[in-house]
Amino acid sequence: MKINCPHCGAVAHIRTSRPVSRMTKEMYCQCTNVECGHTFVGLVEVVRTLSPSGTPDPDIAQQLAARSSQQAPAAS
Ligand SMILES: [Zn+2]
Repeated sequence: MKINCPHCGAVAHIRTSRPVSRMTKEMYCQCTNVECGHTFVGLVEVVRTLSPSGTPDPDIAQQLAARSSQQAPAAS
């Protein structure tokens, strides 16, 4: 996975990460531009299903269904 520094746009390395929940992970990042040197924390989050799981967890399925209904475009 690649992420860019929000300040200078250079590639930032993910140094470590920790789970916040089963759907979200924090990643600790460091910019590779020595003149910038920004370190920051980003989030990786599961937001929707592309293909259903063969071993679905009901709690996760419910969370993803709720997110999908929140993201659905308004009917015109
Ligand atoms: Zn930077």
